[in-house]
Parts: sequence; structure tokens; C-alpha cells
Amino acid sequence: MGNFFRDNDDLRFYFERWFDWDPIVRLTEVDYAMEGGFASLEEAREFYGDIVEMVGEFAADAIAPKWEQIERQHIELKDGEVVFPPVLSGIFDELASLGVHGLCVPRELGGMNAPLLVYMTNAEMFARADVGVMTHISFHCGIAMAMLVYSAKEGTTKIDAESRAFISTRFEEPIREIVEGRAWGSMDITEPDAGSDMAALRTRAVQDADGNWRITGQKIFITSGNAKYHIVIARSEPGDLGLDGLSLFLVKLYDEAPDGTKTWHGTISRVEEKLGHKSSPTCAIDFEDTPAHLLGRRGEGFRGMLLLMNNARIGVAFEAIGIAEAAYRLAKDYAVQRRSMGKTIDRHEMIAEALREMRTDIQALRAVTMHATYYEELAQKTSIALELGYTSDPDRVAQMTRDLKRYKWEARRVTPLIKYFGGEKAVEIARRGVQIHGGVGYTKDYQAEKLLRDAMVLPIYEGTSQIQSLMAMKDTLMGIIADPAGFAKRLAKTQWRALSAKDPLERRAANVELTALKAQSWLLSRTAAAKVGSVARRPPSDWAGELKKEWDPKRDFSLAMLHAERLTRLLFDAAACELLWGQSARFPERREVLERWLERAEPRSRAMYDELTTTGAALLAELERAEA
Ligand SMILES: Cc1cc2nc3c(=O)[nH]c(=O)nc-3n(C[C@H](O)[C@H](O)[C@H](O)COP(=O)(O)OP(=O)(O)OC[C@H]3O[C@@H](n4cnc5c(N)ncnc54)[C@H](O)[C@@H]3O)c2cc1C
Repeated sequence: MGNFFRDNDDLRFYFERWFDWDPIVRLTEVDYAMEGGFASLEEAREFYGDIVEMVGEFAADAIAPKWEQIERQHIELKDGEVVFPPVLSGIFDELASLGVHGLCVPRELGGMNAPLLVYMTNAEMFARADVGVMTHISFHCGIAMAMLVYSAKEGTTKIDAESRAFISTRFEEPIREIVEGRAWGSMDITEPDAGSDMAALRTRAVQDADGNWRITGQKIFITSGNAKYHIVIARSEPGDLGLDGLSLFLVKLYDEAPDGTKTWHGTISRVEEKLGHKSSPTCAIDFEDTPAHLLGRRGEGFRGMLLLMNNARIGVAFEAIGIAEAAYRLAKDYAVQRRSMGKTIDRHEMIAEALREMRTDIQALRAVTMHATYYEELAQKTSIALELGYTSDPDRVAQMTRDLKRYKWEARRVTPLIKYFGGEKAVEIARRGVQIHGGVGYTKDYQAEKLLRDAMVLPIYEGTSQIQSLMAMKDTLMGIIADPAGFAKRLAKTQWRALSAKDPLERRAANVELTALKAQSWLLSRTAAAKVGSVARRPPSDWAGELKKEWDPKRDFSLAMLHAERLTRLLFDAAACELLWGQSARFPERREVLERWLERAEPRSRAMYDELTTTGAALLAELERAEA
């Protein structure tokens, strides 16, 4: 019997040794005071351990071996309904019976009240088995939790002040249906003329005289679009307000009578035939005067959608780790038995190096992704605890409010980096997997080509790699503009660590971080010089007042936009150094991982800095002429 948790030491390191579970469990179990909840950290951790062991075994034994059947049996659209082939119905039925759909949902609503960290650990293992299965099931728990959070934020969820248990929530019925595996959920953003550019969304929401909302428009590429419950973003405000004209809605695509007869409120017009992700239905949906329920406040749809998208982006990074882990292990197993020129190919230098780098990239990605998840969970749970008034102690509320700011910033800093690096690396690692297999890698007899096809969409959905880079670049540069003195301090501190830290490994890690900071400084000084000539030849610490002008990233950041992907790679290399050094300082056995990472990250970041600071002028001039 296989087990994708047991067989993975690096994954287990986080779960069993690295995380400080206490703050997460305290927030999840409301200081261990919940009725029917865990009385201690140990009890909670034991339960989480049981869950990941169970999922690890299920993923290894009941999903992964079925990859050929999954590839051959197709999801179809028949008489307006999505029909799953027997292999998938079997897997999804078994998953429902394991209770994973309600993993993070509170017990009072039928769930297990487990943390996001457990959910995402499972996500990696499911993705290693089959990423399409993972994306399809992730829209269960994710949508149920989103409904609960939206309801808490709009004040339609009530908790008991004594026991802190849920008394009622506006979406109890759909949440219970999802938890019990009787309904699915989906997130509907993309339209034929609006993908990355959400300001171009056209689906309309109109309110009648009685206050009821109706939606008209087409959404495309919707994962699990066969779902009963759709969270839809639509234009509700008159005029051209861009992102501020959007609101979020809960839309029921159909009602189901006890005999199973369905009454449709929208139409599934298409199920995409895709390169990969064969086990996940990707649908086009037409809404025509479809009844809808406003979620949160009018005009705040974009902000509301970000909540779902943050989790989804972290989820994609775990998809990437899962695919990359599968590709690496497959390639390694093949390489140790395939002989060429007198020895097995894993002994040939170039293949040995490729395998080593694949493994190292996966470990670095996991380090930053686990960190992102930890802070995203702290941010979400602290925010909900404050909304629902879990504590009335003013000092604690003040402390939680301060913590929330820090948690949010940390999650926001690293999330675009993992989505970017994860998507790009999953493709690169899966492609290397095909290469290591030689000719058979290009056939359907081996899973290597399936993994590559599955990986190809990761840099596209949930915000493309380019959009992630733009987000990382804008946050980074605007952060420096808001606090140039803070940036100067960070630069000086990192410079000092790179020169004087006692441990040579820390000096090397700090040097990579320094290169990323220098790239930021270079980009900002060039960008600022074009706008505020006076700062051109002065260090960031002197910029303070002069930079407090109005910035328009679209107009002012063309150089930084050109180099956004390069900057994002540098930021990722630096973040991985920072986190792997933190691990090495506490666990000496992690030094070896950092050493392997530095071996590639040091020369790579120097080359990237060089490229960033020397290329692009001619292209920018060309683009400027074309605009004129
Ligand atoms: C399998 C699959 C599942 C999906 N699931 C969902 C789902 O569940 N829900 C949902 O709403 N959507 C879903 N999508 C849609 C997906 O999120 C979009 O395809 C994605 O956001 C990109 O939008 P687009 O296809 O319109 O490409 P475009 O936005 O047209 O982008 C085309 C290219 O231009 C680049 N580009 C665009 N703007 C810029 C810019 N300013 N600077 C630099 N480069 C830029 C992009 O990076 C990309 O390379 C799914 C897609 C697929 C393939």
C-alpha cells in the first residue's frame, strides 16, 4: 500500500516539525473552548495527522493508479448536463464518503473544522495523484468556506457568545449540501472578452423593484461549471466604474426535486476539450435573467473575489508541487533502471544534475508555499475572529488587529511569488520528466507526457504568470514608495548580514536577498527618475517627501512592467533563501537543502540582475513610438 504523506520526508517536515501549530489551532478551536472540539493542541494535531495519513493512502492507492482510465474515459455534455465517466464518479463518490468536502467547515455545519494547512497538504497529495481530481474537489470545501466568510463579513452569521458555536448562517443549506457531497460549487469570473482584465467584465446584474437580483451574461472556462452553486462576479453599478462597478452574487444553477428532476436557471453551453485536466469539467455557462443573491456590499465584488482567489492561488502552488513531485519521482524511477553507455542514466552527469535541480526546486517551492499558507490562514482566521467577536478583551482585540495587518502583508507578499514560480516550475519539471524518459516519454504508455499536459495550465489560470509578476512588482515598488526609510534600513541590514553574519551559509543566503533588493532599488530609481528627476542620483533613504506624489502604475511603471517577471524570479529566489535559512538555523539537517538551493540561486540571481539592469531600452523606445 502506498501513502503520499508517509513517503514524503520533506512534506512531513512541515507538518510534523516546522509549523508552530498553536496559533492556528487556537484560532480554529477558539482557544480550545469549543463544545465538541479539541481540548488540547496534541489532540488536534493527532486528528490532523490521521486525516493526512488517510488522504495520503487514498491518493496513492485509489486515485494515482487509475491515471490511464482517467485519460481514456471522457467527461461529456449530454442533454445540457455534465456526465462523468464511471472511473471519476467512483473516485468522487468515495471522496464524499471520506468526508473531505467539509474538511474546513465548522462541526456545527457538518464539517471537520480542520485548518487550511491540512486542506492544502491534502491538495498537494491529491494533485500528485491527479491534478484534475484535485481541482474539481477543491471547489467544494473552498466555496462552502467562502459562503461562510462572506456571511460573517456581512453580519448574517450568528455565534453563541458563551460556547462560541455557530447558531445560524445565511447559507446553511448550500453549505450542508456541499459538505455532504450532494452539490458542487464554482467560481465564475472569466468571460469571452475579459480574462486577465477584470475591469472589462460585462455580465450584468440588475435589481428589480422588489430588490431581487437577476444576472445575464456568459461565463467561460469555469472549473466544475456543472456545480449547483456558483459564485459569480457581475457588473451591478451603472456607468463605467471599472472594478468598482462589480458585485458578487450567489447563483443557483438549478433546483432539484426529490425525484432528481432538475429545473435549470442557466445553461451549460459547452464543456471544453482540453490538453490536460481530463478529470475536471471546464464549462461555459449562459445566464439569462437568472435569479441571484448579492454577497456582501454592492460595488465590492472585486475585493470579495480576491478572498476566493487568494486561496485558489495558494491551491495552484500546491497543484504545482503535486505535479512536480509526481514528475520527479517518475523520472527518477525510470533513470535508475534505464541503461545507456554502460551505466544507468541517473549516473550520467547531466541527468543527475537535472534530477537534483528538480528535487531542489520542489523543496524551495514547498518552503515558500507552506509559509504563504500559514500566514494566509492566520490572516483569514484572525479577521473572522474579530468580525464574530470571539473576544471582548480590548487588549487582545488591539493585539489581534495589529497581528492581522502583519499576517495579511506577509501572505500578500509571497502569494504571487508561489503562483508564479509554481506554475512555471511545474511545466519545466514535467518537461524535464519527459526528456529523461527519452522516446517513451513522448508516448502515452508513460505518465510523463500527461503530467506535462496537466502542468501547462498552471501558469495560465488563477491569474497568469504575467499578472502575478505585475502584482508582485507593483506591491514591492509601491511598498518602497510608501516607506523609503524602511527600505533603506532593510537594504543596510541585509548588506551587513551578507558581509558579517557568522555563518557562511547565512552570508550566502543574505547575498541573494541583497541582489533582489538592489534590483528593486535600481528599478525604482529609474522609474522615479523619469517622474521626479531630482531623485535620480540619490539613495532611497533621501527620497521621502519627493516620492509622495501621485503614482499611476500604468503610466509610470513601464520599465518595471517590462522587468516584472525578472523581478519576480529574484524575489522568489530571495524568499526561498530567507525561509530555508530560517529552517537551517533551527534544524541543522535542513542546511543541505539550502546549500543545494544556493548552488543554483546564487549564479542565477546575479545573471538575472544583470539582465534586468541592461536590457529593454530599445524595446521600450519602440513601444513608446508605437503609442505616440
Ligand atoms: C482549465 C482552465 C480552468 C479555468 N478555470 C476557471 C474558473 O474556475 N473560473 C474562472 O473564472 N476562470 C477560469 N479559467 C480562466 C482563466 O482564469 C483565464 O484563462 C486566465 O485568467 C487568462 O485569461 P484569458 O484566457 O482571457 O487570457 P488573456 O487575459 O487574454 O491573456 C492572454 C495573454 O496575455 C497576457 N496578458 C494579459 N494582460 C497582460 C498585461 N497587462 N501585461 C502582460 N501580459 C498580459 C497574459 O498573461 C496571457 O499570456 C480557467 C481556464 C482554464 C484553461
